[in-house]
Amino acid sequence: MLHVSGPLLTVDVGARTTEETDVDDVLESFIGGRGVATRLAHDRIPFDADPLGPENSLFFSTGPMQTSNMSFTGRMNCTAVSPLTGGLFSSNAGGFMSRNFADAGYAAVEVTGESDELVVVHVTDEGVEFEAVPDLEEATVPEITEYVEETHGLSEEHVACIGPAGENLVRFASIMTTESRAFGRGGLGAVLGSKNVKAVTFEGDSRREAEIPPIQMDVHREAATSDHIMKQQGTTSVTSLANEVSALPTRYFSELQFEGVEGINGDRVGEKKYKRGTCSSCAFACKLPTKDEERGVETEGPEYETVMSFGSNCSVDDVVDVMKSNELCDRYGVDTISCGNAVAAYLAAEDEFGNADLIHEMVEKIAYREGDGDVLAEGIARFHDELGVDNWTVKGLSFAAHDGRTLNGQGLSYAVANRGADHMFTTLYAWEYPLVDRESALDPTGLDGKAPHIVEQENARALEDCGIICRFSRSFMTPERYEGLFEADYDDLLAVGSRVVELERHFNNQRGFDRADDTLPYDLPDFEAALDDYYAQRDWNADGTVPDDHVNEPQSAD
Ligand code: SF4
Repeated sequence: MLHVSGPLLTVDVGARTTEETDVDDVLESFIGGRGVATRLAHDRIPFDADPLGPENSLFFSTGPMQTSNMSFTGRMNCTAVSPLTGGLFSSNAGGFMSRNFADAGYAAVEVTGESDELVVVHVTDEGVEFEAVPDLEEATVPEITEYVEETHGLSEEHVACIGPAGENLVRFASIMTTESRAFGRGGLGAVLGSKNVKAVTFEGDSRREAEIPPIQMDVHREAATSDHIMKQQGTTSVTSLANEVSALPTRYFSELQFEGVEGINGDRVGEKKYKRGTCSSCAFACKLPTKDEERGVETEGPEYETVMSFGSNCSVDDVVDVMKSNELCDRYGVDTISCGNAVAAYLAAEDEFGNADLIHEMVEKIAYREGDGDVLAEGIARFHDELGVDNWTVKGLSFAAHDGRTLNGQGLSYAVANRGADHMFTTLYAWEYPLVDRESALDPTGLDGKAPHIVEQENARALEDCGIICRFSRSFMTPERYEGLFEADYDDLLAVGSRVVELERHFNNQRGFDRADDTLPYDLPDFEAALDDYYAQRDWNADGTVPDDHVNEPQSAD
């Protein structure tokens, strides 16, 4: 089975030490990316670790495909205990850093401990340098990347960094790379901030090439010649459909259709796109560099999720206002979904829906923890009582845009996902929208028979994150192509994904998570029976916990 190569590099930023460890057994069993990071995190982070304490470790990891030139592989993984959910959390970012990370020659890099001063950590194939950067305190993401370029000659494509939000321990702060790409959602930026690490850079000349079968060229060619709508509109191409079928959260989740959708849909975003945008080696190029000359707003996106969180969920119908929110989040280093939803909750409490100036002001206040922003920075699950609004989260993670009240299988997926209400854990919505022209399309209504689909898609998504291959490869990457690329049976590959999901769940179980956390703030028909079915499909206990012997057995991929 194809897998990533290289040692684990552990960087203790408190002790200022480094150590290389042979983890070949883990690489052979988990391929790379999220799988390798999850196994290492499960075995090396204390189960009772404070997410913002020195004992939490943050793992950067790549997969074997990041040594190829295949489309859909310009991404990498980051894993740590989340200060937002309290569970093990993997996040995946695009951009151009993955190749520079691979050039440093490590399969994974663990950042642990806590520095007593603000530092930039330079990781190279010849060692690690710790650089004190007191003058970068509260620097924004563009300011940091400019500093690294000017003082070290390294472009933004070598840099993973945090903005003021990460330093101020905003629980949904992101780690940013290539300026506008985010390891988002779970607050991994706050983990880096708690360690007093402003940025990590990667460079070298020691890439350990994996022998990738020629199938990669077929995928690449098809990605280049495809006329998919995402090449013009990215993920926002689904906006009008989501609204039409009542799956677009609106005004802090109180409605499912937005009367102003025409102002923020894929056509409007596509009109603002001014050049091609992509990740390294990707000919699909679905990214969205946008600008509005008149108002002086330039950003990348918004993606569909941001169109929801800062658009319909805040009752904003002007795409430039949403672009501005997007640009501020990237500049300060906060997740656009979690931040937009937190602001939407604030607008609901203040009866200020649609007030774009207030929205932009609150993003800044969250990043710097000023005034009410300090409350919002804690995340909806922690502040909703104080504001008197409903708790629209699962396991502390606020909801993504494909609403489970209409797409019921997606709703169940939100409930059981280890990360909480995260659409990327299964992407089951893609099978429940009425545009699917494949045999496997699902009726969105009801949960009967949905659990096996969720298990299969959770495993498939985890496999993608081991590889690492982008979610948007789904029209191009068939099971046969996985078998050809990874030189293994598809069932064996899905079994790797299954073990990743199980290890995450087991880690979280040790931290107290069980069936009681697999809940939704709304009713779905036969929900408890569907939960039983999901646990049975995975051979887990009826209380939602993983039997210990599932994860203590030798983790062989054979
Ligand atoms: S499909 Fe889009 S998000 Fe995925 S790697 Fe390519 S450009 Fe990046």
